Amino acid sequence: MTERLYHTDCYLRQFTAHIAGLSDDGLGVRLDRTAFYPTSGGQPNDRGTLAGIAVLGVAEDESGIVHQLASPLAAGPADRAIECGIDWLRRFDHMQQHTGQHLLSAVFEARFGLKTASFHMGAESSTIDLEGQVDPGAAAEAETSANRIVCENRPVAIAFEEAAQAQGLRKASDRQGALRIVSIQDLDRSACGGTHVRSTGEIGVVLLRKLEKVRQSVRVEFLCGGRGVRRARADYEALSRTAQIFSAPPGEVPALAAAQLEAARAQDKARRKLELDLAACQGRDLYQSTAPDSGGFRRVTRRASGGSLEDLRAIAQSFTAQPKAVFLATLADPPSVLLAVSADAAMDAGKLLKAALAEAGGRGGGAPGMAQGSVPGAAELDRVVARVTAECGGGER
Ligand SMILES: [Zn+2]
Repeated sequence: MTERLYHTDCYLRQFTAHIAGLSDDGLGVRLDRTAFYPTSGGQPNDRGTLAGIAVLGVAEDESGIVHQLASPLAAGPADRAIECGIDWLRRFDHMQQHTGQHLLSAVFEARFGLKTASFHMGAESSTIDLEGQVDPGAAAEAETSANRIVCENRPVAIAFEEAAQAQGLRKASDRQGALRIVSIQDLDRSACGGTHVRSTGEIGVVLLRKLEKVRQSVRVEFLCGGRGVRRARADYEALSRTAQIFSAPPGEVPALAAAQLEAARAQDKARRKLELDLAACQGRDLYQSTAPDSGGFRRVTRRASGGSLEDLRAIAQSFTAQPKAVFLATLADPPSVLLAVSADAAMDAGKLLKAALAEAGGRGGGAPGMAQGSVPGAAELDRVVARVTAECGGGER
């Protein structure tokens, strides 16, 4: 088994170790001892170098820890000693987030009786899943408590105790033999094999963010230390850019944004009404300016290249609200068609168009007064227009 140096010293960054195993491709290295933390318990692996070669992954199996290298080790004696180094910025960041998790889990349990079901450390932020309900007020209270304990700079200690004798653990352990117990003074005792800072002060700021309901749990997003500061900086910059747009102090932005959105919705509604009024006028004008055929029918075919069928619907509606009227319109992109007929036209636009569309490989249909549909391309659109025109007459304009 690999001796895990981080079990007793999480601050060890440089160490010498002997090679204890090497994969055939020379990329998978086992050592007699290592300070590299493998991916486990919700925490990603450490990175760094072995004999100057980048370590990309660290995993554990029943035989110990395997370091995955970016390129093979140079040839040499099978059990030679090599120099190893941990990427300290990444490791310390992980120690801040992980110890912050112990702190938050303990605070949520002590203040609200909420147990932590799981923990995940992501590249940007971390989450804990709490069993029960958490409202924003409780989250803010937990955040305040956690930050107070950070300021108290309480020791975070590592001790080894026999599992059978270990008392007062936040979560019972089902392991046998020696347990590694990480404790925050007067707050928490947890069996854990991870990497932690040595005092709560080193966690730095604790920032709680999104609360998300996940089945019976609530997922609480949090960031500690440097991550919290960087996120607060990014948030401030986003907020101040928004405030500049409104030429207002950041605190007034939510109310201003809500008012602007409300005004935009009202304007949109008013504009839509004007568009419909205009289309109704256009439909009536079109009817007036269209000469009736020998049977007294006024027929119009409109071919539009852009816009939407919705725009044409209002014109069609007002055109066919008049007696003896047939209105056919097409849109080039996407290839689509609209047919409307007046109530006295003795035609069923829905049935008629549906049949024409089916023949041309398109789809659609509608009511006796108005129908619409789409076809695969321009040629099919022409076929639909030809068939509908043949069946209900009329010319293009
Ligand atoms: Zn831990």
